[in-house]
Amino acid sequence: MRNTNDLNLKSWVEVPKNSDFPIQNLPFGIFSTEYLSPVAGVAIGNHVVDLVYLQEHGYLDGLGLSAGIFNQKYLNDFFGLGREKIREVRNRVSELLQKDNEELRLSPAREIALLPMGDVQMQMPVHIHNYTDFYSSEEHATNVGSMFRDPKNALLPNWKHMPVGYHGRASSIVVSGTSIHRPKGQIKLSDSDIPTFCPTRKLDFELEVAFITCGETKLGRHITTRDAENYIAGFVLFNDWSARDIQNWEYVPLGPFLGKNFGSTISPWVVTLDALEPFRAQGPEQVPHVLPYLAVEGAKNFDVTLEVLLQPERSTEITLCRSNFKYMYWNVNQQLAHHTINGCNIQVGDLYASGTISGPSPGSYGSLLELTWNGQKSLIMPDGSERKFIEDGDSIIIRGHAEKDGVRIGFGDCTGKILPAF
Ligand code: MN
Repeated sequence: MRNTNDLNLKSWVEVPKNSDFPIQNLPFGIFSTEYLSPVAGVAIGNHVVDLVYLQEHGYLDGLGLSAGIFNQKYLNDFFGLGREKIREVRNRVSELLQKDNEELRLSPAREIALLPMGDVQMQMPVHIHNYTDFYSSEEHATNVGSMFRDPKNALLPNWKHMPVGYHGRASSIVVSGTSIHRPKGQIKLSDSDIPTFCPTRKLDFELEVAFITCGETKLGRHITTRDAENYIAGFVLFNDWSARDIQNWEYVPLGPFLGKNFGSTISPWVVTLDALEPFRAQGPEQVPHVLPYLAVEGAKNFDVTLEVLLQPERSTEITLCRSNFKYMYWNVNQQLAHHTINGCNIQVGDLYASGTISGPSPGSYGSLLELTWNGQKSLIMPDGSERKFIEDGDSIIIRGHAEKDGVRIGFGDCTGKILPAF
């Protein structure tokens, strides 16, 4: 068995240059077609491999998979088999797609097993039971703290001792391509003592990466930083849409609520932690030292280039920012260890988002709140119009990829369009 991450691996499936999905990636997702109800698939180049077809025709024999495991509208049952089984399936799919493997390549079945990506509709990859959003970028937390509190004490005293987070809303997480209506809510204008009810005037995106779990724990037990990765199936891009004016009026004392829970968007392909293995990076140095239950050894961050684009309804897209997943102060191992240290149980298909990922320079800020400094500055669009926040008809597109020696492990687009308020 060859290493699935080997940068020299080639597939008999044509993979266009700059494709997010070379044979080294092989992310899992759920797709449907005009004739097929949702089933599990793997992306390669501009094609989707139908895992139900592979299993029903014996290509996955010997892996101990139960019948119908891929013939489902979510990946939860498959992910629930655990990290090792996910790896075995990905290894086998890699083997079948390698250039020198004839099993599928020479079979007439390949026309049925591989569908053009343009012919499929991507669906939610998992049924998300629980969603948590962290706040793990030091630059983002510093920017927000400077804006709303005190630039000299931008980080609150707890921030460097724990990955701060809150419980979000799972039911309103949607897959890329789903439009979102501008939310309405209570807004407190500066010239009034009482709130106004109206559509948000400060609609924003947040550039985030989220991980999806492939294991569960019993109430009362916890996951160590060392064991955390065994519970992580992989990653998706995540847009934590935010209504800043609603958020600003409601968030004291219990934190984000209706300013966040009207919708969040994820990219449809779950890029496995295995595929990102060659792109590990050392995270920022953590000073002061963390408590022992949060200590980690080795490189726990990932070098994934991220970008956000805004596409106005009748104009060309413009890049708003470029950032990187490696900037995260708190890594995923620490997030999962902290989340469970009190005995909180996790479930298969939980989603844990990073928090807005801002980098050190203004061009790397991961929200309009920071890019326009809460509307104090304007961004100029290609058609000459200005933006302080998102307008009706605008689409926000998040992209991300890791790259080495011409091999690019990408996520596909995480896109959402804003429609007028109901
Ligand atoms: Mn967020």
